[in-house]
Amino acid sequence: MSSPIDINLEKLINKVLVKKSQNNDRDYTHFHPSEFYACHRKLVYKYYEAQGICSPSEPAASFIDPQLQRIFDTGHGMHFRLGKNLEETGILRGRWRCPSCSKIFGKKDVLGIHRPKTCDCGGQKFQYQEVGFYDDETMIGGHVDAILDLRGTEGVPEDASDEDSHILVDFKTIRSEAFRRLMAPRDSHHIQMQTYLYLSGLKVGKFLYENKNDQTFREFLVPYDEACVAKIRSDGQRLKKVVTSTNSKGQHTLPARAHKKNNVKECVECSFRSHCWGLSK
Ligand code: SF4
Repeated sequence: MSSPIDINLEKLINKVLVKKSQNNDRDYTHFHPSEFYACHRKLVYKYYEAQGICSPSEPAASFIDPQLQRIFDTGHGMHFRLGKNLEETGILRGRWRCPSCSKIFGKKDVLGIHRPKTCDCGGQKFQYQEVGFYDDETMIGGHVDAILDLRGTEGVPEDASDEDSHILVDFKTIRSEAFRRLMAPRDSHHIQMQTYLYLSGLKVGKFLYENKNDQTFREFLVPYDEACVAKIRSDGQRLKKVVTSTNSKGQHTLPARAHKKNNVKECVECSFRSHCWGLSK
């Protein structure tokens, strides 16, 4: 009897994932709240890459390791699932796309709108889209996972202002060991949330951490942190100045490195490591 047919599924899927990470279309012509805690020199490199001013000196880690791409995709899947859950609460604000005619509702409203009942074309199904913000002063822009309007719930009066009645929500997945130790949002996440609060003008955010192993939740309320926002603003303004000007010789410049040595994790994984440290490859 001949041997049964077989296929290496890991190889097959990895090929798709490597291609996907090579076609990553994240827009780096502005700075992202989720990366603002990172080395600012790296953010400037990414901006220059997006503008065709320089190219990475090393491939991104996800080009080499498809498992990383699977981890990212698992996080995206969780976002989609929790977004769907919040849609059913009736308090979620966002942009809403009618799949029948592609019309998008809520584009003009800074905080988005509640899910419409019916589209002009008669369609009654809508796809949720996250609300995006952009601040020209700092060149920081990004999309928030969810904005919840608590008016009429949780003791919030119906006539409360947006600022007093809305809450930003950010979803995170986290491994079991880290979940057990998690007593407060991580510093990087705190900066991300404060950046969203700055961009949106809202005063309270909430993190929902989901344990990757058993899907248990832990949530943290994060009030607006004036000192942190002031730092984000001044850093953003400084970075904008760096990327939108050149020195007296007409050359593009870089901010200082975030690290003193290049053997720290962030540098080891950085796509601009050789450029940054003048290393020969
Ligand atoms: S190599 Fe390190 S210091 Fe240089 S840009 Fe990358 S993260 Fe920043």
